[in-house]
Parts: sequence; structure tokens; C-alpha cells
Amino acid sequence: MAVRVRADLATIPTYKPGRSPAQGAATWFKLSSNESPYPPLPSVSEAITLQASMVHRYPDAAVEELTRATAARLQVPSDRIVFGAGSVESISQVIRTVAGAGDEVIYAWRSFEAYPILTRGAGATPVEVPLTADHRHDLPAMLAAITPATRLIIVCTPNNPTGTAVNPQELAEFVAQVPPEIAILIDEAYYQFSDHPDAAVGLAIGREHENVIVAHTFSKAYGLAGLRIGYALAPQNVAEAMRKVALPFGVTNLAQAAARASYDADAELTQRVRYIVAERERVASALAADGWRLPRSEANFLWLPLGEATDLGARTFEEHGLIVRAFPGEGIRVTIAEDEANDRIIEAASRLKGQGG
Ligand SMILES: *Cc1c(COP(=O)(O)O)cnc(C)c1O
Repeated sequence: MAVRVRADLATIPTYKPGRSPAQGAATWFKLSSNESPYPPLPSVSEAITLQASMVHRYPDAAVEELTRATAARLQVPSDRIVFGAGSVESISQVIRTVAGAGDEVIYAWRSFEAYPILTRGAGATPVEVPLTADHRHDLPAMLAAITPATRLIIVCTPNNPTGTAVNPQELAEFVAQVPPEIAILIDEAYYQFSDHPDAAVGLAIGREHENVIVAHTFSKAYGLAGLRIGYALAPQNVAEAMRKVALPFGVTNLAQAAARASYDADAELTQRVRYIVAERERVASALAADGWRLPRSEANFLWLPLGEATDLGARTFEEHGLIVRAFPGEGIRVTIAEDEANDRIIEAASRLKGQGG
């Protein structure tokens, strides 16, 4: 007799990581996971190497030094910051802290693939609210979806995979209309690439509201996707509960040291982010000139809403040596990366346009 697995897990979609190029194909670019094209800065590599000699020891479970540094940067008390193994773990902690069987979690769709997985994993029920026709969060519809069972609303801004952002005023008005006993999680994985890179929009709101949680990651702008580190800024009572459900020792000392070193390398990292933003604008302008009507992206990727032509689009990108993220029947998300990769995006999109895509 086989072990009985929770029956509700059968409804969980499997997370599809961005595909990697076939080995040895040197001219391929992986534009399917919104990673940074830059290897770690020398100062960050050094910090990682230093920690490598001590991996026979458990990491600092309380993430003390980095939490203090982060709290100082955000000007919030340390006990409101909770680190996790990537902000995916932070999001998971938040969901498991506020929602369980019979509870509803509202989020836009299409949005980040991890939301349905983590929501169902917690035993809660996802309530997916379709994006507007221009690929943005439909905030009025999300408000209308609130029921007595609602425990959490997730707002992903800029949104993965469409790149569209909720502007600060819209967000403030939205938060003001959500009943205060319902938690709002603002997932700002890409805020450094947005029009408000210095003051993450959610932060200002998160500091002031007892029901707002903000998730940030070191995977995208900081280029530490492989080390798995992110954090949430949460109200004190939520933060305390998040620590209870957190994976013990989930954040390695390598990740903690690399994040700390990244703070010290702010200027260089900001320069990298600015370059990616400039490249995004270059590619978006070229595609617009070519007749493409894309939603305006405030992230490190572009969304091509190809609908039925998505498969053809993915093949065309592949013929140009680009691995992109295709959502069949919906569209393609392509990460802005090295100059040559970006040039090829323009070429592939132009070819596709010529094919009537
Ligand atoms: C990439 C991403 C994250 C963060 O992922 P981690 O690597 O786990 O930190 C969170 N939210 C969204 C929307 C993302 O695209």
C-alpha cells in the first residue's frame, strides 16, 4: 500500500523554471528567468569565498547583522524584518502565517507562478482576478473579490510577467479600501527597475499600515538568484508569526554575507540596474517603431502578448538563440540581458512581425 498523500495537492501546478540552453551551445542566451546577466562583483565574490571555508557550521539563524543593516536602510525597527531563502520563501511564510484551509488568497492573474503553488500548498484557496485588457492589475475587481473568507491579497508590482506597475496613488487608494484585518502583500521583486527605484512604493505604505507586508529579493537587481535570499517587511505581529513558520537555518551564511557585501556595493549595482533599464527602453522603443504595442514594462523584462502566436513566437526566438518564457495561448516574457541578447530580441521580434505574429 502506498502512503497517502494529501489529496488537495493534486491541484497544485508544477513550477516551471526558466529553461536553460543545451550544454555547449555557447551562442545561446537564457532570457527565461529574469536573472541578472552580470556575474557577482569581485567584492561580493570575496565575501562568499570567505564564508565558504566555514560551511561546516550552521548559519546565523537570526540573520542578525544583515537584519540590522536592512532595518537601518529602510528606517524601520529590526523586529519587522524577516529573511527567507529567496523572497519566494518570504511569500510562503506570509501565506502560511495568515491563511489555511477554508481561507481565500486573492491575487491577479496572470501573475507570479509561485502564488497558486504556495497558496494551495498552505491548504488555502486561490482567487485569481484577471488582469485588465492592458495587462495591469484590476484593483477594483480585486476589491470586489473580497469575501468573509479572504485573508490575504497579493499585489505584484511591477507584475511578473507583464511588467506593468501599480502606481503609488493607486496602491495607496487600494490599501485604504481593504478592511484592516485582511493582509496585503506587496511583492516588489523588481522595484529597482521601476519608475520609483529609490523609494520602493510598498515601503512607504508598509511603514504606515498594520496590514501591509512588503517582499523584496536579492535575486534580480542584486544578481544573487543562485544564493536564495530575500526578506519581508511586516507588521510586528505578522513578523513574529513568520519566524515561527520559517524554515530553520534557511538562509545560508554565504547568502547573508553576499547580501551584506551588496549593500556596500550599492553604487556599482545601481549602475548595472540603470544600464538594464536603458537597454529595456532601447528594445521597447525599437519594437514600438516596428509596430509592436507592448504594455509598458517597469521591470527587467518585456511582455509580448502574442496569444495564439505564442508558440510561433517562442520558436522564432529560439531560432535566434534566445530561450524565452512562453505561456501558451497568452504570450512571451523575455528578460533584458547582455547587449547582444537584446539586439537579438529586436531581430527576432522583427522577424516575427514579418511573419504576421
Ligand atoms: C523572482 C521573483 C521573486 C523572488 O524570487 P526569489 O528568487 O525567491 O527571491 C518574487 N516575486 C516575483 C514576482 C518574482 O518574479
